Amino acid sequence: MVRTIILMGYKFSSSKCLIICLGFTFLMGCFIATLPIPPPEPQNLRLSSRTLDKKKLAIIVPFRDRFEELLEFVPHMYKFLGKQHIPFHIFVIQQKDVNRFNRASLINVGFLYTKEKYEYIAMHDVDLLPINDNLKYSYPALGPLHISSPQTHPKYHYDTFIGGILLIKKEHFEMVKGMSNNYWGWGLEDDEFYVRLKDAGLKVIRPQNITTGTENTFKHIHDKSYRKRDMRKCYNQREVTRHRDRITGLHDVSYTIHSTHSVAIDDLPITVVNVELLCNKTATPWCQCPDPPKVKKNS
Ligand code: UDP
Ligand code: MN
Repeated sequence: MVRTIILMGYKFSSSKCLIICLGFTFLMGCFIATLPIPPPEPQNLRLSSRTLDKKKLAIIVPFRDRFEELLEFVPHMYKFLGKQHIPFHIFVIQQKDVNRFNRASLINVGFLYTKEKYEYIAMHDVDLLPINDNLKYSYPALGPLHISSPQTHPKYHYDTFIGGILLIKKEHFEMVKGMSNNYWGWGLEDDEFYVRLKDAGLKVIRPQNITTGTENTFKHIHDKSYRKRDMRKCYNQREVTRHRDRITGLHDVSYTIHSTHSVAIDDLPITVVNVELLCNKTATPWCQCPDPPKVKKNS
């Protein structure tokens, strides 16, 4: 016996009806597949009632070849900032080119990448882990907040030091035109940034009431023989980078983003941005130092 089904006033056999339903489902599937996929919100911004109205923090990690440190950094920061109910996301800005490492330009790129959705950034070394819970990563409304103060940083103790971990709100970072792009290789880009802040009349704020010291406020995962600092100076690098840079900054950082990846470390989401920094070799030839001549061994 053939069953008949009445659909929208028409009579169909049950087998015809099945074919029509399958066809309809297929067409709907095709239609849904063509709809644009919205860019994902960083997943850890699961906004609870305690974080809902707080300003959002982009943790910008300038990065190259520090994978072991990253594996420790990400879970640590989730645990540490989770206790403070700060809505944050970690952006690993990975330098993918043949030039020397340029921490400041990577921070500029990270800022431009995140500025639409985040109200403040932390420029954050991947190897410096805060361990004192009184270090609060709250919104630096009044001025840049230097978390790794010279009184507590394991290695750097001069007054004007602002490296390691610095929180700054979007408006202040833009006000000083971001960081200089001239600093290829290790060092001085943070000191130059200090002068930018000072010239703009911004006072650097440091955490108050911290009773721990240089040994027990941070863990610095950095063995200097394993992770050598690139201290080479070539061409006129030494001379140029001693001075305040009034030319370069956020507006002229030259780069291409090759890819972005949402990845997870121990199930904790982060975003990796692969960046090629472009070097103007006329302006900053020291983005690549020539190899020293090889000394021939006498046989
Ligand atoms: N960094 C990196 N790869 C490098 C050099 C530096 O990822 O080859 C990043 C990393 O986030 C590191 C930060 O830049 O924590 C500061 O560099 P480094 O630790 O060498 O400086 P320190 O403050 O220890 O003198
Ligand atoms: Mn270090």
